[in-house]
Amino acid sequence: MLGHKKYYIIIIVSFTLLIGYLHYKTDPENYVLHDIQTELHYIPLLLAALVFGLRGALLTFAAITVLYMPYFLAAWSDPMFSMYRLFQILLSGCSAFAVAFLAGFLVDRERRHREQAERNRYLASVGRVATTIVHDLKNPLITIIGFTRRLQKGKGDLDSALKSIMESALNMQRIVHDVLDFTRPINLTFSEEDIRNVVNRACDSCRTSAKKQQVTLSVHLPPDPIKARIGKTHLERAIVNIISNAIDASGKDEEVAVNAAHGENGPVIRIKDHGSGMDRETLENIFVPFFTRKHVGTGLGMSIAKKIIDGHHGKIRIKSKVGVGTEMIIELPENFNVGKDKGKAAG
Ligand code: ADP
Ligand code: MG
Repeated sequence: MLGHKKYYIIIIVSFTLLIGYLHYKTDPENYVLHDIQTELHYIPLLLAALVFGLRGALLTFAAITVLYMPYFLAAWSDPMFSMYRLFQILLSGCSAFAVAFLAGFLVDRERRHREQAERNRYLASVGRVATTIVHDLKNPLITIIGFTRRLQKGKGDLDSALKSIMESALNMQRIVHDVLDFTRPINLTFSEEDIRNVVNRACDSCRTSAKKQQVTLSVHLPPDPIKARIGKTHLERAIVNIISNAIDASGKDEEVAVNAAHGENGPVIRIKDHGSGMDRETLENIFVPFFTRKHVGTGLGMSIAKKIIDGHHGKIRIKSKVGVGTEMIIELPENFNVGKDKGKAAG
């Protein structure tokens, strides 16, 4: 934004100087032209008010007044110059001041309101997310404590208890990772991998939840390796987040198909479901942190997935239709090389 502001300053200063130049080049007797030039001052004045608020508007007004002063003083000392003309100049100065003040004041007020509304929204979402995270962590924690107590008392089957404990712990780990990935920049460590392995591992992590929700998870991979330089743990997490959403959106006995292949420009991973699909508002907000349509959802999954894929210089495309389903397509670039095998996806 500061970069843009620099350009606005250049435009405002150039405009003010240009009008001043035209003004002093014009025959002093040519009142009509002088009046037009005086009116032109509203352009930098309003621009300054819009971009910099009250302070910018008043500063520009002061600069214009200083530039205008020699003309005014010369006119004042000229006996031929009529009082009417002076009055006219003073009046347009006053009205320019009023406009600068009012526009700047309104812009500042609007900006303050917007910032306050944004702060309120942010605080509300942080509160909601904190509640969700605690709720999400509470359930697996209860499972872990429950099964451990039973084992301590020598009750229950050891294997199935350990399985449930591990599953719950992994669930907790996923939530913690999501929050951590969101709050700090993602440090990607790149290495040459076979995308098929990453996709397989991601699908394996999702099998339990697919089974629980009675969704069929199918994987379609080519026989040959799909080699690419990637940050494998992070890319896996991005794929897991997308598959989890596809499973959540699907109904009983519906299929989520995961597919990886060599695309025209590099590896392409597709996750397709036949679930609820997304309406326009969801599609527009899907990458906005904390945006969720679920009762228990952090709303961080997709924003993290995007951050990770951006860190790979890749793209996520979404095709979705309400009631028909969704296809998410991850496209990674072919020859993606990162300096020292390290990359950072900004937070
Ligand atoms: P969360 O899963 O915690 O809600 P995400 O960032 O992962 O957060 O997803 C944001 C929202 O995008 C979800 O709440 C859901 O409404 C929508 N969404 C994401 N993927 C799909 C999908 N495959 N089908 C339908 N809706 C989806
Ligand atoms: Mg999700």
